[in-house]
Amino acid sequence: MHGQMMDSQLTLTPLLERARRLFPKKEIVTKAGPGLKRFTYEQVIARVAKLAGALEKLGVRRGDRVATFAWNDERHLELYFAVPCMGAVLHPLNLRLPPDQLAYIVAHAGDRVLFVDPTLLPVIESLAPLLKSVEAFVVMGEKVPGETTLKPVYAYEDLLQGAGPEFPWPRLEENEAAAMCYTSGTTGHPKGVVYSHRSIYLHSLGLSMMDSFGLSEKDVFMPVVPMFHVLAWGTPFAAVMLGTNLVFPGPHLQPRDLAELIQAEKVTLTAGVPTLWLGLLNLLEKEHYDLSSLRGLIVGGAAAPRSMIEAFERKHRINVIHAWGMTEMSPVGTVSHLKSYQLELPESEQLGLRAKQGMPVPGVEIRAVDESGREIPWDGKAFGELQVRGPWVISSYYNDERDAESFLDGWFRTGDVVTIDVEGFVQIVDRTKDLVKSGGEWISSQDLENAIMAHPKVLEAAVIAVPHPKWQERPLACVVVKPDFKDGVTKAELLEHLHQRFDRMYVPDDIVFIDAVPRTSVGKFDKKALRATYRDYQLPE
Ligand code: AMP
Repeated sequence: MHGQMMDSQLTLTPLLERARRLFPKKEIVTKAGPGLKRFTYEQVIARVAKLAGALEKLGVRRGDRVATFAWNDERHLELYFAVPCMGAVLHPLNLRLPPDQLAYIVAHAGDRVLFVDPTLLPVIESLAPLLKSVEAFVVMGEKVPGETTLKPVYAYEDLLQGAGPEFPWPRLEENEAAAMCYTSGTTGHPKGVVYSHRSIYLHSLGLSMMDSFGLSEKDVFMPVVPMFHVLAWGTPFAAVMLGTNLVFPGPHLQPRDLAELIQAEKVTLTAGVPTLWLGLLNLLEKEHYDLSSLRGLIVGGAAAPRSMIEAFERKHRINVIHAWGMTEMSPVGTVSHLKSYQLELPESEQLGLRAKQGMPVPGVEIRAVDESGREIPWDGKAFGELQVRGPWVISSYYNDERDAESFLDGWFRTGDVVTIDVEGFVQIVDRTKDLVKSGGEWISSQDLENAIMAHPKVLEAAVIAVPHPKWQERPLACVVVKPDFKDGVTKAELLEHLHQRFDRMYVPDDIVFIDAVPRTSVGKFDKKALRATYRDYQLPE
């Protein structure tokens, strides 16, 4: 017997229409230079319809890929809805990728139109000869700078002026592609992940659950995570669906910019990677801002060190929401909220649990499998590779022959090594490739990093494996000292700090002091770069 309910297609168009009808007065704010630009939902959504009309005039058809090379701002948001709702596929490009990778990705995706922020024009101009699939460029501003070499090129505002106020949105099927992003973490060429209307719709509902981000109409949400990094973690779609006020930082991503925006716009919820929040934390140690409007600071993309969670919560009364996810998962997989009865635990135990990556959100199923392919017990000790499945998890990469290594019996292999405890809390031990394999033992670089970063004189730390003749690999800690302690910390002091917490076998053989940990294109610690630098490092005997 079948259920007898409507088989409504889960597409983004009714979510946009909902926002248009219900929330015309809600606000979208973008930081532009020293000032702010303010818009209502009514204005922005009217422009979304015009933009779709303009895209159609440019020759964009259902299924065509439209690339963006842009900051987090209101025009980018307009593209987020115009492109998928007209049936085309939004493809935000990572601003920080090297030129050869950008050229590869544009060609692989077959992007036909490319929207570019005026401040980023020189990058696209120098790449243009390689972007053979691109038939038109659009500069996201009032006019096209006279000296640009791009051809054919249009100004965003000119296109909108020439478009009618109404657009007949097509009836789409929920499994049609809505957007795509390329993964940043792989070796070899980046891989394409194609999101469907259905996956984004369901993921948006997922983000609205109290036990995940709990995004709501009442929030003022500031996505700091770039709109090219897993679609700003899917948050713009959920925010518009709900009628949430949005604050976009544009290109202004320094800790002081963010603190000022939170204070001025009374932001209630924001999201980004830990390196960004470590910067904010450092600023708050020196300067005062009123950030009391914040009900949550969402930290994901890399592990939130326990010491960071503790400092935000104890010193600054800012609640941290720690989440784990992947480009391949839209991205949200687990969120570290405590269960009601865990709120009775002593504070330090609660913190320990919240520094884990947390429970899978409804919609995501998990298992972890050891090297022999057996599922590991949920005892918080055994570890294995985390595998996931669910309606917003990838089923195959876009036009790629490397699927076999990533999927197993209907599960997606995350490449993250985890433990899962009896309560179902996942803890990421490491990326498979970041584990240090020392004399048959596996050492978690993340555990060591968290412990080092808990030292009051340390700003950042990354631990990498260095080849060793006897042990195969041994850990080396690369440490950035807080500016105030530049000459006031010794290796011995840090090693002693670790000896108090770890078995001898786990303590790094050496520490190098560096000025900054190199970053990946999405702002995470770039351990690949560090491993290359210290490949031949001579560890002390
Ligand atoms: P990306 O697709 O670039 O977002 O990278 C996904 C990877 O980032 C995951 O497979 C994890 O290795 C890592 N990651 C994301 N969130 C967390 C987290 N909260 N803790 C530890 N690692 C994380």
